[in-house]
Amino acid sequence: MTECLLCDVELLTKPSWKTLLALDDEMVLCRECLSEFKLSNQQIENPTLKKVTSLYEYNDAMRDYLHQYKFLQDIALAKVFKYELHNVLKSKTNIIPIPMHPNRKVKRTFSHVEELLKCARISYSDVLEKKDDETMGKKSKIERLALAPLFRLKPEVVIKNESYMLIDDIYTTGTTLRHAAALLIEAGAREVEAVTLIRARLND
Ligand SMILES: [Zn+2]
Repeated sequence: MTECLLCDVELLTKPSWKTLLALDDEMVLCRECLSEFKLSNQQIENPTLKKVTSLYEYNDAMRDYLHQYKFLQDIALAKVFKYELHNVLKSKTNIIPIPMHPNRKVKRTFSHVEELLKCARISYSDVLEKKDDETMGKKSKIERLALAPLFRLKPEVVIKNESYMLIDDIYTTGTTLRHAAALLIEAGAREVEAVTLIRARLND
């Protein structure tokens, strides 16, 4: 018997046209838990990023999901939004996940953004790497964000005069995505869009 990954209730798996076509190969959450996630239709535009599309609002259910997925490292939860991510990204090319800080990668066993894309069967290139914070000396975090590019391109990476799509789990202030987009544009990208799983409200 399979259980919901968030509340452990037993999942009743009924054969449907989806299972027959192997589209719905596995249910991972119960209906109750799924119904707690609130769809977002928010799109933001600014000069660097042509468009940012977020799939869900940040709410209690999403906070619990992120906690279990990112901090308790429950990798099975990468599957929860695979259809939604697949649908929004399937026709896109040049997909680039926002990387984790190298130090965090040691503690965490997987890259949470890349894992979301793998489960959604979306191919991507991890061309960005985060810069080491230490090179910025003793400046405050805000000063560092304002001053320095957070990312650099990995060696040998060639950015074409094409459209690029950045992926991150959550959009809060947009600083991370704007930095990455500016870097890609400087390197020759024609335009940069982004998709995030979640849109956070600043006053939360
Ligand atoms: Zn549940």
